[in-house]
Amino acid sequence: MKNFILLHICCGPCSLYPLKVFKEEKISVKGFFYNPNIHPYQEFKLRLEALKEVEKIESLEILWDETYGLRFFLEEVSFQWERPKRCERCYYLRLKKTAELAEKLKAEAFSTTLLYSPFQLHELIKEIGEELSYRYKVPFYYRDFREGYKEGKQKAMELGIYRQKYCGCIFSEEERFSLAKRKKISFTQT
Ligand code: SF4
Repeated sequence: MKNFILLHICCGPCSLYPLKVFKEEKISVKGFFYNPNIHPYQEFKLRLEALKEVEKIESLEILWDETYGLRFFLEEVSFQWERPKRCERCYYLRLKKTAELAEKLKAEAFSTTLLYSPFQLHELIKEIGEELSYRYKVPFYYRDFREGYKEGKQKAMELGIYRQKYCGCIFSEEERFSLAKRKKISFTQT
């Protein structure tokens, strides 16, 4: 069997640029959708369907975990509701599952589209990926995909792929839309 990188995919728009890079470099990829952090349910379905469109457009094989993980996620981040602790746990959960699957499938390496977004804690994702690589004995394919952020965004707009307005968890939805929460964040940041 031809070897491949198992690519954790957080959502359709974030996958477009990394997939382009892999295609250009003739690196074989299998996608893996595992995101118990996305809430509420209707938003989860929207992002899932958006990635299904990308799956067709890119003729990509994707392994799907379509379980809606609200309770699981809240238990996992309990009492670590604020960033960056909450995000650290969130990255860890998703990358751990990807590394486990990569080991099981004997993938050449694993990676994540989280490395594409300038809104994520990039260095932390890299650190967690490397730690899991050591533990599961599968290389972590690191690349700073943020270089293609504008290009990927443009392509998602052209294709009409659904683009979310907040990171994913219910806390990030609050941070994005609740005026009181936004005021509190800007106050604590100054
Ligand atoms: S803000 Fe994003 S990365 Fe952080 S916990 Fe929420 S979904 Fe995960």
